[in-house]
Amino acid sequence: MGDVAGCTLSTHSKEVRTVRKTFRTLAVSGALALAVVAGSAPLASAVGEGPGYGDNGQITTSRLTTYDQLVAFLKDQDARQPAMELEVIGKTVKGRDLHLVKYVTDPAKPTILYLTQQHGNEQLTTEGAMQFIKHLGTANSSGILDGVNILIVPMLNADGAMGDVNFPLDDYVAKGDRHLTRYNAEGVDLNRDHVAKIQPETQALHNNVMRKYRIDYMIDLHHQGTRAERDGKLVSGSILYPTTPNADPAVVQKSKQLGSVVFSSVDSTGWGHLGKYEGGSAETISRNGIAVEYGIATLLFEMRGMSDHYLGGYALGQRSNGYLIKQTVITLASTAAAIADGSIADADTTFWDSLATQNSRDGGEEDE
Ligand SMILES: [Zn+2]
Repeated sequence: MGDVAGCTLSTHSKEVRTVRKTFRTLAVSGALALAVVAGSAPLASAVGEGPGYGDNGQITTSRLTTYDQLVAFLKDQDARQPAMELEVIGKTVKGRDLHLVKYVTDPAKPTILYLTQQHGNEQLTTEGAMQFIKHLGTANSSGILDGVNILIVPMLNADGAMGDVNFPLDDYVAKGDRHLTRYNAEGVDLNRDHVAKIQPETQALHNNVMRKYRIDYMIDLHHQGTRAERDGKLVSGSILYPTTPNADPAVVQKSKQLGSVVFSSVDSTGWGHLGKYEGGSAETISRNGIAVEYGIATLLFEMRGMSDHYLGGYALGQRSNGYLIKQTVITLASTAAAIADGSIADADTTFWDSLATQNSRDGGEEDE
């Protein structure tokens, strides 16, 4: 939809590419600094067979950003960043304000939406989005914002993320005073509500984001279980484009290009190892439903290991947080840069033909 970046940017694409490179370096170093502060294990040993595999390490939620801390962070960044706008798009079942972070310089430019935490127990995607927002406030990322409009909806399921729900979470494994659950306060899976749109969180997203902006691309960020592997090696995450037969082939192709940018950026780190996610064709799922309803190119990104779960094998200890947050930042920064300089149009999608679908070492993976 309205992807005119190629022509508008061609005159200064070289400059944009330089900025993009600097931006990437900064994004990565920022995430690394965070990993060090968080006391994480060295990145190289945290992947796949990394620390805690087996019992998955100490599962604790005390270092995760709370909803209130997220809101305070967003308001602080809004005050510091001239290019950023912060908007309340609705409320959760329990009355928490839902936020949209906007960097819209010119509606004619291509727009990407990043969505995190439809499932409340998939928090590191939000931690990564916060790092990304911080980077967008630095002078080095102004070139990116010249070429792309960025929308971010962090922590859509804020009630589930805070364990403030109308059902018990006594059997969840994380230590600490906070539990995180997949479902919203009413026990509904928000990523199965994109056709009926009954829940207030889903309504906020569709009424005040999807229908209000001309969005070209969307990445829906999730976490999967801990034991998926590709080619015999545990993955750091997995990706997938729309698989409903009702999606426009041109939209699917753009989605595959989005996936190509992510795959090459993550895989080239040396520690990243992505599989193809095995997902269904239901349009109640955002990856499919949003592609069909709005003609938006969508990508599902599943990070490895959940922040909390009632099944211990699905949750992953905090020692892996550093590299998973870093993987999120790389995913967001690389796609924004590739859209901004137009290079996404040249992204090679043939890797999808040989990318193996991940399989589970012992037992199922949680659904997207
Ligand atoms: Zn999920």
